[in-house]
Amino acid sequence: MPELDGLVPSGAHAQRVATGATWSEGPVWLPARGSLIWSDIPGDRILEYSPATGVTGEYRTAVEFTNGRTLDLDGSIVQCSHGLRRVERDTGGEITPIVDRFEGRRLNSPNDVVVAADGAVWFTDPSYGITQPAEGHPGELEYGACWVFRYDPATEELAPVVTDIAQPNGLAFSPDESLLYVSDTSGASDLSDVGHHIRVYDVVAGVPVNGRVFAEIERGVPDGFRVDEHGNIWTSSLDAVIVYAPDGSRLGDIPVPEKVANVCFGGPDGTELYIAATTSIYRIPTLTRDAAARP
Ligand code: MG
Repeated sequence: MPELDGLVPSGAHAQRVATGATWSEGPVWLPARGSLIWSDIPGDRILEYSPATGVTGEYRTAVEFTNGRTLDLDGSIVQCSHGLRRVERDTGGEITPIVDRFEGRRLNSPNDVVVAADGAVWFTDPSYGITQPAEGHPGELEYGACWVFRYDPATEELAPVVTDIAQPNGLAFSPDESLLYVSDTSGASDLSDVGHHIRVYDVVAGVPVNGRVFAEIERGVPDGFRVDEHGNIWTSSLDAVIVYAPDGSRLGDIPVPEKVANVCFGGPDGTELYIAATTSIYRIPTLTRDAAARP
């Protein structure tokens, strides 16, 4: 894999470390537990993998179809709930709502979430959890669209910030938060010719502007992705994690034997890439860390 020189150790491959899910999403590394948790969305449960023991088990069940998640500045978990149509917090196992309505109307089914350095919660709100019965509960688009929102916990203001993507899905900031990346997975059939790209926006005074296509994914869709400390984008696709430089050039692929939904950095020093791919979790060592990694 010479094209990923400097990012992945020579000869490293993605190796399966856990399996048993139906559709894996929402991976996040929990430093305090030394483990990875992720969503098995159709299984309506959250699974946990401990590298120290090699054991995979259930972290929580009957979770109302959680999807993407991240860590808040205080280390609590911020996650998306299809079933409850909200973004919620997990503080040591106690679940509390963060936001579930825009101007009195319910959200669709929040899919993925990031927390900015100022504590604002940014999340995507496509329709999958109200249109796909295995991933939530059937429902209506109450505000009539699928947007990206910014929620300010200090003021409790919820603002639409990206409104030009058919099905916004993954999202992440560049290391200095001057850029916001958002994927469009509206072309969810594997070889569709529309809606399988990542858009990028300049973030000016907290508002994404000047949206343009950053990368088109040829095989599959870019569901979830992460940005590393150098600004490279590590994105899901049909059969690989694809790594793009900040200028949009494709640095290389990490082949994965199952359809990839999302990734996250983790492990003791934050340099291992965990890959949520259909039934399983794969792991590959890297030479970098998440852009948002906080000491
Ligand atoms: Mg997603």
